[in-house]
This record gives sequence, structure tokens and C-alpha cells, in this order.
Amino acid sequence: MPEELRLDALPPGVAPPGGGAPPPAALRPDLLPSDLLPSDLLPSGVTAHAVYAIPMRQRFRGITVREGLLLRGPAGWAEFCPFPDYDPGQCRPWLDAALEAAQLGWPAPVRDSVPVNGTVPAVDAATAAAIVRSWDGCRTAKVKVAEPGQTLADDVARVEAVRDALGPTGRVRVDANGGWTLDEAVRAVRALDRFGLEYVEQPCRTVEELAALRRRVDVPVAADESIRRSEDPMRVVRAEAADIAVLKVQPLGGVRACLEIAERIGLPVVVSSALESSVGLAAGVALAAALPELPYACGLGTVTLLTTDVVARPLAPVGGRLPAVRTAPAPEAAALAAVAAPEETVRHWGRRLAATAAVRRAPDWTGWERTGRLAVGEEDDPR
Ligand SMILES: [Mg+2]
Repeated sequence: MPEELRLDALPPGVAPPGGGAPPPAALRPDLLPSDLLPSDLLPSGVTAHAVYAIPMRQRFRGITVREGLLLRGPAGWAEFCPFPDYDPGQCRPWLDAALEAAQLGWPAPVRDSVPVNGTVPAVDAATAAAIVRSWDGCRTAKVKVAEPGQTLADDVARVEAVRDALGPTGRVRVDANGGWTLDEAVRAVRALDRFGLEYVEQPCRTVEELAALRRRVDVPVAADESIRRSEDPMRVVRAEAADIAVLKVQPLGGVRACLEIAERIGLPVVVSSALESSVGLAAGVALAAALPELPYACGLGTVTLLTTDVVARPLAPVGGRLPAVRTAPAPEAAALAAVAAPEETVRHWGRRLAATAAVRRAPDWTGWERTGRLAVGEEDDPR
């Protein structure tokens, strides 16, 4: 890696390299249950603060309430929010990403704002059209397809409705989350491309299938799960299995780790979120703002999938764009109090943090190349 991640290297109170925000203001002391959140497991200068529990607007990955732990360090606020079924080893890159935000901050942006896509879940055509018409300036639609229990006719109707609502100048991409076989993907991509596809994301499960599909259709193929669930993100490149790489900051170990992957992989990158609050989402925005090239809209318009947020002004897109950020927005006391998790949930996150910190301290820790092994669910991506 061009810049070694030494997240334990900063003594308390020392400014992160390249400047960054001053230490953020304290929250209400009664929201800092230090006996429940074991800050002594974290690198010096980083403290665990509060656990949020925010209801979601729609069930997702079997989750109806999104939970996460907010950290604070010399570089700013951070969020540790691995999905509930992840074991400590799988949580490790999420903690790496959070500690990068808390201790180092993020690289400087090279653009003022980033374009984001809107998302159309696997809903009926009329609902899909209504969703698109509700967007504020968003000109790119990501349409979920290959939903279990649905047919290609459902996908065709949904994509046609989205194209009609968006008009000929909008962009339409589809995400199958690996739900098609190779033959199903060939048939589906050809049928859906009648409405003009920007690309098809993770049409099949395996790298070999993606490579074979690329040889049979003209629509560009984006790899998502094949990168973040793989032990070796370069496999998709060697197999010529993708035209585009979808990168997510938390499961891939941080903004710098993703910039490194992007450089090595040499493909255009689409940044997507992991359904964080605005504090964690800011890391994805920072990555999108720092990438040398950003030819596609990013899957970062996701705070609207949560019913509320931990900050006063959520990172919701305006005019189809999000402003570049250098640090995460600070939680706002009243907003945080409204979503403060019950004590048992806080204890649970304290245990998760402790277990993950212990894994991270293991002597074989070597960074994202080891931690790319993620048992991510098949439907873990709403963007
Ligand atoms: Mg995806």
C-alpha cells in the first residue's frame, strides 16, 4: 500500500496528517455509557460514544431497525455498524474504516460534489414509476431485479416503467445481486436493454459467470459482491469479469483501502453505502470525492431509507448530488437522544466492539487483503 495505515500511531490530541477538523464537541454525558462501551479497547484518543437504533422505511436483509455504534477521535466522528450476522472477523474491516475516520480523517476531495443514483426496489411498475417521479433531480436509477419469487416479466415491466418516468436522457442500471444463472442473465440483459441499460450489476454469483456473460452481451458488467466477498478483489480483473467495480468503504476497510483497491483494479468505480447513518455514509462520500475519476453516479443516496438520522442535517442528496466532505457530520444531541438504543443493545454493541478489537489486534492482521472475506447476504444492497 502506498500509505501504510497505522491507526494506532496517533497519540491523543494530535492532529491527523494533512490537517482535518478539530476534535468535535462532546455529546451529553448521559449518552456516554463508558461502563457499557469499553473504550479502553480502542486506540488511544478514540472513544466509543453511543449506540443508535433507527427504524428503516422498509425491511431489508431481514432488518427492520438499523443499529450502529458511534466513535469519536482526534480526526472526527466515525461509525461502526456491521450487519447483525457478521462475526468479529467479518466486522474487522468495518472497525478499520471507523478508526480511519476517527484517527486519520480522509484524503482531500478532488471534486466539490458527487452525483448519486436513486434506488427502485423490486416493486410493481406503477410504484416504480412513482418512486422515480418523487426524486429531487436524480437522473440515474438503480433498479433491483432478479428478486426471488418474481419473473423476468416483472423486471421488464419495472425497468420499462422506470425508463418512461425518467425519460430518454436518464440513466438506468439494474442490480441482480447475483440472482441469475448465466443463461438467465443473457436472456434478461437482452430483454432489459431494450430500455437502454447503463450497466448490469452482479448479474450472476461467480466471477466465471460474470466473465462468460461479458463475452455474450454488450451491456457493461459491474462487480459488487464479487469484489467485497472475495479473498482477492483482483480476481475479477484477471478473469476479465467486470467493466466496473462497486466499492463500499466499511466492508473494504476504509477510504484509503478503497482508493488502493481502485488503483490496483484499474476499473471505473461506483461507490455505494452500507446503509449507514449520515456519520458512516460520509466515508463513502469522501471516497467518491477523492477518486481520481468518477464517471458514474454513486449509491450514496441511502439515508432516506432510514426513518431518521443521528445528525441535524442528514447527508441526503439535493438536485441529485451530495456535497464533498472532509469529515463526518457531528451527531446532534437531540437527534441522538431520540434514537438512543436500549441498554441491552448498547451492551451487545460493546461486546461486538470488544470482540472485533481483539481480532484486529491479532498478530496476523495485515489489512484489507485478509479481511475481504465477507459472508455478505445475497440481498444486502439496497442502493
Ligand atoms: Mg449491488
